[in-house]
Amino acid sequence: MPATPTAFPAAGTSAVSQRVTIQCATPGATIHYTTDGSVPTSTSAVFDAYELPVLEAINDGNTGVRSTYTIQAIAVADGHESAVARFDYVIDRRDVDRYISTEVMPGLHMILDYDDTKMYLVVGSERAMLVDAGLGRGNLRAFVEGIIGTKPLDVFVTHGHPDHVAAIGQFEDAFDVYMSHHDLAMARSFKESMGFPLDLTAIIDLHEGMRFDLGGWVFDVYAVPGHSVGSMVLFDESRGLLIAGDAFGSNRPSISDSLWMQFPGMLPIDQYLGSLLTIRAKLAGRIKTIYGGHNDVPMRGEGYLDALQVAAQRLVDEGEGVLVPSLRPTTAWQVVEGDRLTDPNWAAINVAKGSCLSTDHRAIATLALVRCGTHIIPIASQMVLPPVPAGQTAHTLWLTPTASAATLRVDGLLVGSGRPFRVLAGQSVTVVVTAADQRGMRNYQLSIINW
Ligand SMILES: [Zn+2]
Repeated sequence: MPATPTAFPAAGTSAVSQRVTIQCATPGATIHYTTDGSVPTSTSAVFDAYELPVLEAINDGNTGVRSTYTIQAIAVADGHESAVARFDYVIDRRDVDRYISTEVMPGLHMILDYDDTKMYLVVGSERAMLVDAGLGRGNLRAFVEGIIGTKPLDVFVTHGHPDHVAAIGQFEDAFDVYMSHHDLAMARSFKESMGFPLDLTAIIDLHEGMRFDLGGWVFDVYAVPGHSVGSMVLFDESRGLLIAGDAFGSNRPSISDSLWMQFPGMLPIDQYLGSLLTIRAKLAGRIKTIYGGHNDVPMRGEGYLDALQVAAQRLVDEGEGVLVPSLRPTTAWQVVEGDRLTDPNWAAINVAKGSCLSTDHRAIATLALVRCGTHIIPIASQMVLPPVPAGQTAHTLWLTPTASAATLRVDGLLVGSGRPFRVLAGQSVTVVVTAADQRGMRNYQLSIINW
């Protein structure tokens, strides 16, 4: 007799929609299931790992509804049926105007709205900062002021998606609100389509290199274009703490989260890989904890970023043949690294098939990373490197092409990916990246100005 099926997430209560995976320990068994309370038989629906049954979180107007769901399943193998497994779930939706919060480390509050969208309130000795403004429609400002009192506040918006900007307008008359202006047009479209009361002209632009000193918390701003062109993250060096919005996506296993890159306006994965390599080079070895826009628990260390990079690189190197159907939404496709149900660092990237790379993967001939000494150089067709330090005569450079199979030539000489080479002060060199198909080709000029 086959083993009795099990379910992930386990039966229980949640505040948001869930997607249920049913498994059977007996190899080759077929799982049949019902969601209507009837006892499953070998003629009931067959479980499909890419079409997970959804337990919807429901709102009646602004009021959250408590819904109960029952899934029953049997496994069938060699004409034998397992015992019936029954899984009872409760989705206890919060009201649309409700917020809750937890102090996840001293001075750092994670605020959740009705959809469990994460906002972060950082309370320093001098100032406080609210990171993102959720999807909920309650009085977020009163909720925040209930925690910080009259302490001065800045509002930092990681990007312009609706689940990060809904309550911005409540803060604009009294506090500075920051968001990259690259995302203004997108935020405007959501303001209009979803009726968010916000004044986009009041938003102060963000750029990499800005610093927010709250007293005891010092955040440096980094740009990670990809999920949106204006995606910005915050890094607190002393704690190794990265507050990342959706720039690296999320990997909540229970609702099959991923890095969402499937919509128009999001960057192709070959360009995003450059963003990822760049931020990782800048923060290498310093990230201890990542809080994102949707994960319930933080990611520890850089294991998730390792998996995300492997996934992006595989799509770039091998093309769309690596894609499998996305679990959420099922209209997208995804590249997956790691086992969602057992590996806390598993990563998946959602994409739109047919348009997820800038060109055919064999024709990608771009650089993803240019490192000069300790500097990471923004990639452009003409790059001016910083002056050679006093007492030295040359810079050491490392170049990484986006596609692993691309070749690099510096002034005609073959250079291995990530292998060092030297450029003398006052010298200019030409870098030619040749794609795997030998036809895609791109030139970059690197020069060092002598001061
Ligand atoms: Zn987003």
